[in-house]
Amino acid sequence: MASSFSRILTTRQKIGLLSAVGGSATAGFLLHREHVGAGAPVRRSYPASAEYPDLRKHNNCMASHLTPAIYAKLVDKATPNGYTLDLAIQTGVDNPGHPFIKTVGMVAGDEESYEVFADLLDPVIKERHNGYNPNTMKHPTDLDSSKIHSGNFDPRYVLSSRVRTGRSIRGLSLPPACTRAERREVERVVVDALAGLKDDLAGKYYSLTVMTDAEQQQLIDDHFLFDKPVSPLLTCSGMARDWPDARGIWHNNEKTFLVWVNEEDHTRVISMEKGGNMKRVFERFCNGLKEVERLIQERGWEFMWNEKLGYILTCPSNLGTGLRAGVHVKLPLMSRDPRLSKILDNLRLQKRGTGGVDTAAVGGTYDISNLDRLGLSEVQLVQTVIDGVNYLIECEKRLEKGQDIKVPPPPHKLFK
Ligand code: ADP
Ligand code: MG
Repeated sequence: MASSFSRILTTRQKIGLLSAVGGSATAGFLLHREHVGAGAPVRRSYPASAEYPDLRKHNNCMASHLTPAIYAKLVDKATPNGYTLDLAIQTGVDNPGHPFIKTVGMVAGDEESYEVFADLLDPVIKERHNGYNPNTMKHPTDLDSSKIHSGNFDPRYVLSSRVRTGRSIRGLSLPPACTRAERREVERVVVDALAGLKDDLAGKYYSLTVMTDAEQQQLIDDHFLFDKPVSPLLTCSGMARDWPDARGIWHNNEKTFLVWVNEEDHTRVISMEKGGNMKRVFERFCNGLKEVERLIQERGWEFMWNEKLGYILTCPSNLGTGLRAGVHVKLPLMSRDPRLSKILDNLRLQKRGTGGVDTAAVGGTYDISNLDRLGLSEVQLVQTVIDGVNYLIECEKRLEKGQDIKVPPPPHKLFK
C-alpha cells in the first residue's frame, strides 16, 4: 500500500506540471510534507484570546471540543493551501445547532486540514464516529456486494433505495476552499473520466450553468439532484461560492447511477432506484464506483485516502466510507410512536425528511439511513441498514395489528 506521502507526491508532480502550463492554484503543494503537520504560520494583529468565538449557546461537535487552549495552539497555523482554523470552524460558529441532528460544526478545506488541525478534528471525529480513534485505528474498505444478504425490502413500505458516497480528487482543494480554477479542474477531470463509462453505466454530464431553471427544479423534485445551496450549513462553510460555476450532475440513461460534481464534495457517487431492492442498488454502486476510480487513475489522478481516516471528504461526518445507504420508507404508525428515536439510535440509524437533510418528514414517510461512516466497511454499513429497516417494517406491521413493539438493545460500543 502506498504511503500517504508517496500518494501526495505523485499528485504534486502533476500539480507542478499544471503550474508550468499556467495553473495558478497550486503553489502551496510545493511545500514539503514534513511541514504539513506543523502548519504554515498565519500572521494576525490580535491575540488568540481576543479572536476566540462566542460559543456559549452552541450545540455542535466543534463547540463541544474547542477550548481556548486548542484555539490558541491552532489559530496561527495554515495548511499549505492557506486554509486556517477560523475558516474551518466558521460554519459551526455561525450555526449553533440544527433542529434534527447534532451537526459537526466544521469542515476541511483540503486533505491537509485533517493533519494541521488534528488537535480539534480528532476529538470531533471521535465523538461523531462513535468513539473511533484516528490515532490508533485503521479504517476498513469492503466493496464486495456479494456479501450482502436479505437486501430486498417489502415495496409496500419502501418507496426507493439509494446508496451514496463522496470522493475527492487528491491535490485539489475541497469545496470550502477551492479557487474557481481548481473547481473547474475538478469538473474537467471528473467529466473526462466519466465519459469512459460503458454499457448500463454509460451516460452524460449536465452542467448547472447550461440547464434551465425548470430542468434543474425537475431533477431536484425527482430526488436526483442536490438542492440549491440555501442551507446556512453549506453557505457559511464557503462551499457555495460562485454558484453554479463548475457544478453539475452526470447520470446514466436510466438515472440509476449518478455523480454530483462540486456540491459539498468534489464528487458524490450515487446509485438509486425506485422500490426496495437495496442489494441491487449496492451492487451497481460498487461496480460503478470501482469503474470511476479506475478511470480517474487511468488519467493520472487519485482519490484522497489514508488508512486512518479512509476516504477524505469535506465534512468530517463523512470520513471513512462516506457512505449513506438509505430508503424512503412509509412508517405512519411508527412515526407517532415516542419510541421511534430510541429504536433508531439503537439500530445505528438516522432519519431525515424525504426532501433531504434540511427537511422534516411529512405523512410518516422518512429517509432512513446509516448513522456511521468510519471504522466500519461499506458492506457492514449497508447490512446494518438492511437489518434495521427490516426491523422497522416488522414493527410497523405489528402496530397495524395492534401488537406491541420492542426497543432493541443498544449496540456495543464499537470502538471503546
Ligand atoms: P445526501 O446525504 O446524499 O447529500 P440529502 O439528504 O442532502 O442527501 O438529499 C439529497 C437528495 O437525495 C434529496 O433530493 C433526497 O430526497 C434524495 N434522496 C436521499 N435518499 C433517497 C432515497 N432513499 N430515495 C430517493 N431519494 C433520496
Ligand atoms: Mg446533502
